[in-house]
Amino acid sequence: MKIGFIGLGNMGGPMAANLAAAGHDVTGFDLVANYPDGVTKAASASETARGQDVVITMLPNGAILRSVADEIIPAMSESACFLDCSTVDVESARAVAEQAQSAQLLAVDAPVSGGIGGASAGTLTFMAGGSDKAFAKVAPLFEVMGQKAVHCGTSGAGQAAKICNNMILGVTMIATCEAFAMADKLGLDRQKMFDVVSTSSGYSWSMNAYCPAPGVGPQSPADNDYKPGFASELMLKDLGLSQQAAESVNADTPMGALARALYAQFVENEDGKGRDFSAMLPRFENRDRSD
Ligand code: NAD
Repeated sequence: MKIGFIGLGNMGGPMAANLAAAGHDVTGFDLVANYPDGVTKAASASETARGQDVVITMLPNGAILRSVADEIIPAMSESACFLDCSTVDVESARAVAEQAQSAQLLAVDAPVSGGIGGASAGTLTFMAGGSDKAFAKVAPLFEVMGQKAVHCGTSGAGQAAKICNNMILGVTMIATCEAFAMADKLGLDRQKMFDVVSTSSGYSWSMNAYCPAPGVGPQSPADNDYKPGFASELMLKDLGLSQQAAESVNADTPMGALARALYAQFVENEDGKGRDFSAMLPRFENRDRSD
């Protein structure tokens, strides 16, 4: 396929490289990033979009996505597909999809999980929103860039799935970390705590697959001095999007709101920025009830 790729950062760079390595004709554009091997450099976003079968965006936020969409939609060929893989607010995802559809284009929002490692290895999971026709058109590209793609529903459904998942993740990581810190104070050995909880009703991905305690459970960022992994500021971004979505549909999400407030405190006022989101454990270790 002829593919335009806009936003060649930590995630977009390796995703575009994988598409080029699989034999697709990839033209890319970014304001600052290095251009990966095999990707032809374009002079602007609109030039990247012209004459392509699919245009992929992998950008920092909804405002940037909307401004790039304004620029590229008029340049895209009829029945081409606008595939946004960024994590953005549901409203921006829906607005951009509507704009594309009114220009006779197909549109899919497909945020990812799997991080930079998954982007490089081509093992991302895509959560997609859009019509069956649009999903079918880009499905072969998901196979190159990822290991799994779930068609979640119409436009915005991919973003909705992503922020609901990450709201659960933020909440369970905090709960796992505060429980480990309390167990320490109760004199419970961390390995025993893991052995019990990972096979009992407190188990979760945060405990079983990404244990925040160093030396316990499978290898995780905790074993590498909490280098990300999934940085706390990215978790904060996703928790902010989930609260924005909760407000827009009047959903009561007290745990999500508290998780957002705790990650905001951690990133903005403590030493959380640049640390993995599981570094909530040393944060709780160093606190008591009067903090
Ligand atoms: P990044 O900052 O490394 O990359 C974003 C790129 O977009 C940058 O290279 C930037 O120069 C470029 N860009 C910004 N405005 C542009 C414009 N107008 N035209 C062209 N290029 C422009 O960020 P990232 O880590 O690659 O994340 C990209 C998206 O993926 C975000 O929405 C993020 O939330 C999501 N995401 C990231 C991870 C992760 O672990 N990094 C995991 C899942 C999802």
